[in-house]
Amino acid sequence: MAGTAADVLARADELAAISEEPGRLTRRFATPALARAGDRVAGWMEEAGLTVRRDAVGNLIGGAHGDGPPLVLGSHLDTVPNAGRYDGVLGVLAALGAVERLAARGERPPVPVEVVAFADEEGTRFGTSYLGSAAYTGAMEREWLDLVDADGVTLAEAIVAAGGDPERAVASAAPTLAGYLEVHIEQGPVLEREDLAVGVVAAIAGQTRVRVVARGEAGHAGTLPMAARRDALAAASEVVLEVERVGRSTDGLVATIGAMSISPNVGNVVPGEVRMLLEVRHADDAVRAGATHAVRAGVERIASARGVDVAWTLRYDTPAVELSPDLRRRLAASVEAAGQPVRTLVSGAGHDAVVLSRICPAAMLFVRCAGGISHDPRESVAEADVAVALAVLERFLLGG
Ligand SMILES: [Zn+2]
Repeated sequence: MAGTAADVLARADELAAISEEPGRLTRRFATPALARAGDRVAGWMEEAGLTVRRDAVGNLIGGAHGDGPPLVLGSHLDTVPNAGRYDGVLGVLAALGAVERLAARGERPPVPVEVVAFADEEGTRFGTSYLGSAAYTGAMEREWLDLVDADGVTLAEAIVAAGGDPERAVASAAPTLAGYLEVHIEQGPVLEREDLAVGVVAAIAGQTRVRVVARGEAGHAGTLPMAARRDALAAASEVVLEVERVGRSTDGLVATIGAMSISPNVGNVVPGEVRMLLEVRHADDAVRAGATHAVRAGVERIASARGVDVAWTLRYDTPAVELSPDLRRRLAASVEAAGQPVRTLVSGAGHDAVVLSRICPAAMLFVRCAGGISHDPRESVAEADVAVALAVLERFLLGG
């Protein structure tokens, strides 16, 4: 049979060997490694009877024959440095597998099905978010073209070097789509904990990022008495615990201080300044806003009790995305028809579906991954779970 779970895993293994670096998987936007992986996938798409084209930034699009707006299935082919082999790739290969299975049985979905492999989701090279899907949906911004990678190459230059066209990328309009469905590894432990192969994603959590800077006064660690200190690190340490307390106070909320820099950062000086990055995520924007507000109140209380100044700068604030209720119902029906319990869950991580949801109904199916591990070579999925995902996809494509 065409498009088995074993085929999907064998192809994922093959793509995992296509990397910028020997010995580990790194495949960033507009690199020769990404082009080689794209060529491989393009070959499989053609064998599956899809008509392959690359758009202006190198997204790989396998179009089906038929009239009317297509239903798009896909995910991304780029990776973070030292990546696992399933984040992104699984969604592309599962989509392809489902198309192959239907074709082998001579079944024809009611609308044309298009398989897309986005060229950049992780944003590892240029610090963008969702560059590939933004270009695909006509939402790419001109200012991004001037972004520079670690080697001083601009995004515009990288697109040209990879055979694309920056002007056309910026000018492209949103396509008309019937919908978007993305299969992705869960990147969390919920499905494994509940012994489930797949889950239906209800929403993608919104994110708030804030730079918090605590400023006290540096001083000699030997001569400055404890009572006279305005220790920025001691204040920051309380902030970390306050963030954890707020994060634990509400179901589904996560709050993190994920980065901290101390200055001076030497053993015999009381730290005068600490810079931190705060991140808060929740599927409900009001909960996220309330939690962010609570953290800020706590930070100010800590700062004033310690005679430390605090600066609070909002860096990034994106709302939660509710995925299409219609497609979710259809996906849930497909999960049930595949003999699986329907578990609905929220994605804490962002995905291409965020961008696609702005132009068409979007849905996501999560697949259990071992230990919830992702962005790591230990990423792992079970063949039986991939088989379930393929069965769900097939049913979904035939109309649920
Ligand atoms: Zn991903």
